[in-house]
Amino acid sequence: MPTKKRAAAPSRPKGTARRRAPLSEAANPKRPADRAWVLEIVASLGRLYPDAHCELDHRSAFQLIVATILSAQSTDKMVNTVTPALFARFPTPSALAAADLAEVERLIHPTGFFRQKARSIVSCAQSIVADHGGQVPGAMEALVKLRGVGRKTANVVLGECFGVPGVVTDTHVLRLSARLGLSHEDDPVALEQALMALVPEQHWTMLSHRLIWHGRRVCFARSPRCGECGLADLCRWPDKIR
Ligand code: SF4
Repeated sequence: MPTKKRAAAPSRPKGTARRRAPLSEAANPKRPADRAWVLEIVASLGRLYPDAHCELDHRSAFQLIVATILSAQSTDKMVNTVTPALFARFPTPSALAAADLAEVERLIHPTGFFRQKARSIVSCAQSIVADHGGQVPGAMEALVKLRGVGRKTANVVLGECFGVPGVVTDTHVLRLSARLGLSHEDDPVALEQALMALVPEQHWTMLSHRLIWHGRRVCFARSPRCGECGLADLCRWPDKIR
């Protein structure tokens, strides 16, 4: 699996030590998450990433649900390299439901865990055909009954294709929520509930996209670029470096 390329971190003048940022009152990690601070984070993310969107290429709810299943333990970029051929060969749920597993495995191989993912997307397509007349259902309860579909995938599809607000708790949202101080829940479902309680419903879908974008562009897991982060004044991560 290819490693993601990152631009070099900003250089630091020789002889100057990395230092902890002085804490503004808003960034005090001991302060509880108050509404004004949460809304300021929501607004700042909106200014930083006004055009944030799902980066999985898709033209329908069916394509998005398949692409989202394939994105587990992979990257959107990698998934976008395999889905054109996959969807050209199996353009509908009924086509994928009848697919030969070995052929599907070959097509999705670069995304990793290809055997398990092939079974999941074929089985998911079979359920869509058998239980939903070939249409991806637009309700959480029905989506999570499809093979390979958890709440994260369901929220992606509901927000993107059905206009149903939801919080997507992927690895970036988990990491950024903890660093910013929004919530330290490390269980995705518990974090989803915590963010839904903190953030007004109309922001749920875009907040998810924007946190994911920030995690992919600035707040990296290993070397967050705190020195060039537009949320640094609000972030309550005690180890942030400037
Ligand atoms: S990059 Fe640093 S300052 Fe910005 S959100 Fe991440 S940890 Fe906080």
